[in-house]
Amino acid sequence: MFKINENYQKLPGSYLFSTIAKKVAAFTAANPDASVIRLGIGDVTQPIAPAMVQAMHKAIDEMADAATFHGYAPDLGYDFLRRAIVANDYEPKNCGISEDEIFVSDGAKSDSGNIQEIFDADCKIAVTDPVYPVYVDSNVMAGRCGEYDPDTQTWSNVIYMPCVRENGFVPEFPKKTPDLIYLCLPNNPTGTTIKKEQLQSWVDYANRVGAVIIYDAAYEAYISQVDVAHSIYECEGAKSCAIEIRSFSKNAGFTGVRLGFTVVPKELKCADVSLNAMWARRHGTKYNGAPYIIQRAGEAVYSKEGKAQVKEQVAYYMNNAKTIKDGLVSAGYEVYGGVDAPYIWLKTPKQMDSWQFFDYLLENANVVGTPGSGFGPSGEGYFRLTAFGSYENTVAALKRIQSL
Ligand SMILES: *Cc1c(COP(=O)(O)O)cnc(C)c1O
Repeated sequence: MFKINENYQKLPGSYLFSTIAKKVAAFTAANPDASVIRLGIGDVTQPIAPAMVQAMHKAIDEMADAATFHGYAPDLGYDFLRRAIVANDYEPKNCGISEDEIFVSDGAKSDSGNIQEIFDADCKIAVTDPVYPVYVDSNVMAGRCGEYDPDTQTWSNVIYMPCVRENGFVPEFPKKTPDLIYLCLPNNPTGTTIKKEQLQSWVDYANRVGAVIIYDAAYEAYISQVDVAHSIYECEGAKSCAIEIRSFSKNAGFTGVRLGFTVVPKELKCADVSLNAMWARRHGTKYNGAPYIIQRAGEAVYSKEGKAQVKEQVAYYMNNAKTIKDGLVSAGYEVYGGVDAPYIWLKTPKQMDSWQFFDYLLENANVVGTPGSGFGPSGEGYFRLTAFGSYENTVAALKRIQSL
């Protein structure tokens, strides 16, 4: 008789977005005339910009002709894309990253979920709290997290690093020493980030204790402050302790197109075993490469036109972020994030907990956001609004919130 991977049974149901959907459905059924504005989604809404659309059209035409047809892509990605990535994302910042350290993939969610499998089952992970749920859940599936305690909403074998207003949303070095440290900067859900010198201290810490930092830089394009690193490899010593994960989803609107990449430096070793070689082996065995058409679209993100169009889209969302942030501040809210990321993290008013504020906002302003407690126990008492809606909806939502 077969047995299942029991670790899956340990996962608590992911009730966050289904609970939100149910509550919104119940509200709209009871209030059919209410126009509900959704600022809860972590998905983009603007269409793919012309340079990328043109690149995809051209690539489709190539696929239609035997002379220019492309079959399986190289495991690690086409040279044209890996070259564009290195030339644009890493060389200008002197990161010392080369093309054979870039692994093109179908996105940051799969990479951040899969990367744990090249590490030992006994590795101890550290995550920020609140956190993007993929990091913990993928390690639960691998049997690395111990047991779940529903009361504290924590796993017995996971090190949590609270990020709250009291520490400026900057994670502190944990008391127990981790083997793998997940950092997502700029951060989803808090919309905050840390300065380059603070990131440098994390790199130094990881090198000192012999840990690997798994650095999710999905929101790199949203960084506006000058003293914030765009890549962890801007920090000295990062190549011996850090894996960086990037995505085209949030900068270029590829959430439905699917493209990302992971950087595993050749210097990153466990004794004499190269993690770059391990990830190449894993990629070669379990992945057949991102589609040619999509990799051409990714290349276009780095073209002159593509860069300008992508920059404009990011600016559009960040103008929404400013609208939300300024509007909430003028209405007396305590607000974080929204400067280097398209997320606004607000402190719920009047001692309401995250779900009470969700209901209050839905019923009185007909605006949907995301309760902070859904991202971890330290998210309780906070609430996330996203800047990924249309400008018109964002302005309308803020008018309603201000008149509460
Ligand atoms: C949106 C997001 C990603 C992007 O995932 P893709 O699979 O590339 O779409 C990765 N990490 C975080 C924290 C995100 O919010």
